[in-house]
Amino acid sequence: MNDDLAALIRTVPDYPHAGIQFRDITTLLLDGPGFATTVDRLAAAVGTGFDLIAGIEARGFVFGAALAAKLAKGLILVRKANKLPGTVLGVNYALEYGEDRVEIHADCVPAGARVLLVDDLIATGGTALAAVQLLRAGGATVTAAAFVIDLPDLGGADRLRAAGVDVATLVEFAGE
Ligand code: AMP
Repeated sequence: MNDDLAALIRTVPDYPHAGIQFRDITTLLLDGPGFATTVDRLAAAVGTGFDLIAGIEARGFVFGAALAAKLAKGLILVRKANKLPGTVLGVNYALEYGEDRVEIHADCVPAGARVLLVDDLIATGGTALAAVQLLRAGGATVTAAAFVIDLPDLGGADRLRAAGVDVATLVEFAGE
């Protein structure tokens, strides 16, 4: 499935910690046709049943922004702590390695808006679930999410589906 795109993703062993196989999308981004194909296939996978896209800082901004521009949808920035200037809503969460917090502007979701969540990779799903919780707290209906990469053995996509979110992914790295 999308082996051409998988071949453009560099694997860095033991980064940022021993035992982590870091899936580095900077090599995919450097390949113009590969980047364009990635965005085209994300667009084909997600359909049109949403009003806005939310990208998760920072690599989710890259794919979320490209997809939003292609589909002429507005973009919500789901940011790390203390980056947004206005009144924020926030959620703390545990990462595959470490802890973090995501925030959005409290007023960024129009009433009843359907939001598609985008990030580069889903592992345990902790980040995406925190973003879903946050967007729902802001008034969004979040029924779909898209990721370039899925690490299926870590169960994040299944956890997201259990939370009522359809999950689309392009490339799977199984066995980790
Ligand atoms: P998780 O919350 O466990 O689903 O982790 C997803 C977030 O951490 C995404 O924003 C990814 O960019 C990053 N991440 C987690 N594991 C990896 C990995 N093996 N390679 C690259 N990025 C990762």
